[in-house]
Amino acid sequence: MAEHFREDSVISVAVRLDPEHPQGLLFDPHQPQLRVTDLGAVRGDGIFETMLAVNGSIKQFGPHLDRLRRSAEITEIGIPPEESWRTAVELGIDEFRTRGGLPEEITVRLTATRGVDGEPASEDPQWAGTYWILLTPVPESTKAKRGAPVAVTLLDRGYDAAAAERAPWLLLSAKTLSYAVNMAALRWAKQHGFDDVVFVTSDNKVLEAPTSTLVLMTVAADGPPKLITPTLKTGILPGTTQGAAFAGAERAGWELGYGPLTPEDVRSADHAWLLSSVRLASPISRVDQAAKDVSEHYTSQLMDFLAQDLAETYPAEP
Ligand code: PLP
Repeated sequence: MAEHFREDSVISVAVRLDPEHPQGLLFDPHQPQLRVTDLGAVRGDGIFETMLAVNGSIKQFGPHLDRLRRSAEITEIGIPPEESWRTAVELGIDEFRTRGGLPEEITVRLTATRGVDGEPASEDPQWAGTYWILLTPVPESTKAKRGAPVAVTLLDRGYDAAAAERAPWLLLSAKTLSYAVNMAALRWAKQHGFDDVVFVTSDNKVLEAPTSTLVLMTVAADGPPKLITPTLKTGILPGTTQGAAFAGAERAGWELGYGPLTPEDVRSADHAWLLSSVRLASPISRVDQAAKDVSEHYTSQLMDFLAQDLAETYPAEP
């Protein structure tokens, strides 16, 4: 079995789920596996989750599986039961142990596609598509960037804040494989001297970053700080990392709030971060040309909340 990704020499493990292997089957991720007619490849017609395993234990596993199920419902892609995903992830993690070393941190990516057009893998809709899990040790370069300040540019997302409710076929709050636009926005940002992007609707509401959630903080002179994130009504993804941060903040007695938020709110907030499962928390140091104050103190508090892994339920705003 070839054991290395050619690009970065990272040893990866892969597990597939199919009707004959509901507990998962190890396969070689460095050999061709997917049929060229798979709708995941042909149309980007699939869904995914990216999770972080620390010492073999998945952070926010419940919320990630809940979000996968929700993405499956929105896209009408059948997915195997939760127990199969959990068992298959464990199989992948055990494979690292068998090979002689469990990396401290692993990125665990669950993928489900609609499968091959006209040829369901099973009559059972829960098993009709194509399903696999890829486990890759988190590179040192990714760990080193955690907590480091990022400069963001606000970019037009091309639809208004009511589009998610008005046009469900846009699949806005599903975590689909169609990330070409998100990646193009990131390339655009990098070509223009920024590290990341915050998307803005055509009616001037802030959404999220291409691969993370925006969280703002206002600091009061005589009370606890307040964390605020854009409302899910705009069709953004419910962030599991934001959910964990909010759970920790609530326990610490901080206040919580949910948008609608405007670019002016981002500029005027005392502090702001981008949050996601593998990057954890990146403080925002610049929004286009406007500098933002970076707080090492609150960044490390957020990191502490994330380490507590409190949010075991699906993050939901009231
Ligand atoms: N928003 C988008 C568009 C994302 O792709 C992601 C994660 O990849 C997030 C938010 C953050 O989600 P989580 O905190 O669950 O990783």
